[in-house]
Amino acid sequence: MSGIAMPKPSDAVLARRREIVAALSEIVPGEGVIDADTEMRAYETDGLTAYRQLPLVVVLPETVDQVSRILRYCYENDVKVVPRGAGTSLSGGALPLADGVLLSMMKFNQVLEIDYENRAVVVQPGVTNLGITRAVEEEGFYYAPDPSSQIACSIGGNIAENSGGVHCLKYGLTTNNVLGLQMVLMTGEVIRIGGKHLDSEGYDMLALMTGSEGLLGVVTEVTVRILQSPETARAVLIGFPSSEDSGKCVADIIGAGIIPGGMEMMDKPAIHAAEDFVHAGYPREAEALLIVELDGPEAEVDHLLSRIEEIAKANKAETIRVSNSEEERMTFWAGRKAAFPAVGRISPDYLCMDGTIPRKELPKVLAGMRALSEKHGLRVANVFHAGDGNLHPLILYDANKPGELEAAEAFGADILKLCVEVGGVLTGEHGVGIEKRDLMGEMFSEDDLKQQQRVKCAFDEKHLLNPGKVFPTLHRCAELGRMHVHKGKLPFPDIPRF
Ligand SMILES: Cc1cc2nc3c(=O)[nH]c(=O)nc-3n(C[C@H](O)[C@H](O)[C@H](O)COP(=O)(O)OP(=O)(O)OC[C@H]3O[C@@H](n4cnc5c(N)ncnc54)[C@H](O)[C@@H]3O)c2cc1C
Repeated sequence: MSGIAMPKPSDAVLARRREIVAALSEIVPGEGVIDADTEMRAYETDGLTAYRQLPLVVVLPETVDQVSRILRYCYENDVKVVPRGAGTSLSGGALPLADGVLLSMMKFNQVLEIDYENRAVVVQPGVTNLGITRAVEEEGFYYAPDPSSQIACSIGGNIAENSGGVHCLKYGLTTNNVLGLQMVLMTGEVIRIGGKHLDSEGYDMLALMTGSEGLLGVVTEVTVRILQSPETARAVLIGFPSSEDSGKCVADIIGAGIIPGGMEMMDKPAIHAAEDFVHAGYPREAEALLIVELDGPEAEVDHLLSRIEEIAKANKAETIRVSNSEEERMTFWAGRKAAFPAVGRISPDYLCMDGTIPRKELPKVLAGMRALSEKHGLRVANVFHAGDGNLHPLILYDANKPGELEAAEAFGADILKLCVEVGGVLTGEHGVGIEKRDLMGEMFSEDDLKQQQRVKCAFDEKHLLNPGKVFPTLHRCAELGRMHVHKGKLPFPDIPRF
């Protein structure tokens, strides 16, 4: 698994495999437990396909009571658990552990309640992101956060990763659109946080859970806010002679007080890959392309479109094409939404990075990335949520060529360090998982990390839920804050450090 180390599997747990499978089969009878290697292959990786590991066993519960009993059993028997939704994580959050139960939530696939009066929908966590919009669109509503993977990814996974998408610039990320959760803690305890109402008393536990990457509890029910579909939406394609010009245009649009429904950028390699794949009508000669969407009342959209045209021209835009029908608008977006698979056609493998920077640093970071591309000898295609400053450099490599995965990892690490250097952060929406785990020290001090682990300990003091993800070093909860290295000798040498 290249440079990313995972906690050493426990021999004691591996030796008890048959007993664990039998206990889980009692809780989830029938076809709810999978333990044959060939059948478990489907679960050995997630969207970060460079890393693979067969789990100890896969379990697919159908009821909250089953989830609670599985977790309680694992808690009492010191067995690790990795929760999984649709397995589209790009940070390796759902990567199995050899000595861990893989808990798939995909049988939780029901829309439980649609409440138009409160503009809320209650769903099970395995419902796809797009499934929520599909359930309410006939009545003129939609669920705003729209990851490009929305046709497949689950709302439970969206909660765990605090996922974003094209429309999050204006309407907020998952955390801004979730109203309530039901969760099962590692001890089997079932808790409720929030509801259809706007604010809850006490600490903001909902925000704590959103983005917790499957480390604090298993989501078993989700209440989300739905929005009324806008009266109209139009998109404009703007081609630029350089990435720097398009980056400056983004900053000027936001600086002018305009918050588009979406504002995405692609560089030349990404434009060509998407155009070859989807034929969206992108300008091939452009070095950088902006897709800007305006939504709302027609008069407002028309007014803002003309202002954006002015700003684009002032930033040397060479092509400006406004969508004239809903079909054309969807075609403009089709290329962007298919950009990842499109890049997959021009390179055997790619790593998709996910850093966020202050918008005004875009030109500097894009220039830095070009220099890094030369340094590491690998190509990079850029697709990103420009309005949010959320970058998705796709590093192209060939896993069959010795050393290329390691070079891609080093390139990715350098990009993320650059993001932090200019005042940004390690992740915008894909989470830390295993991918950015070992870079956490670039952003957080040892004290910061210990503080974050104290929260983890409050919910899972045995570190059984998704261990090996997010935190570069595990600390025994009881000792947190008191770790002291004496003459190079680490205390508690039995604690996994990876
Ligand atoms: C082509 C492609 C495009 C993408 N585009 C975007 C994008 O635009 N924006 C974006 O934000 N992401 C994007 N992603 C990443 C990914 O789709 C999201 O992170 C998504 O939220 C993962 O959901 P999932 O159901 O697949 O979760 P999984 O991959 O199964 O799991 C992800 C994490 O969530 C945890 N988890 C899953 N279900 C639960 C649960 N019920 N309770 C507790 N923890 C749980 C897992 O343990 C893991 O840590 C993209 C991925 C792909 C492959």
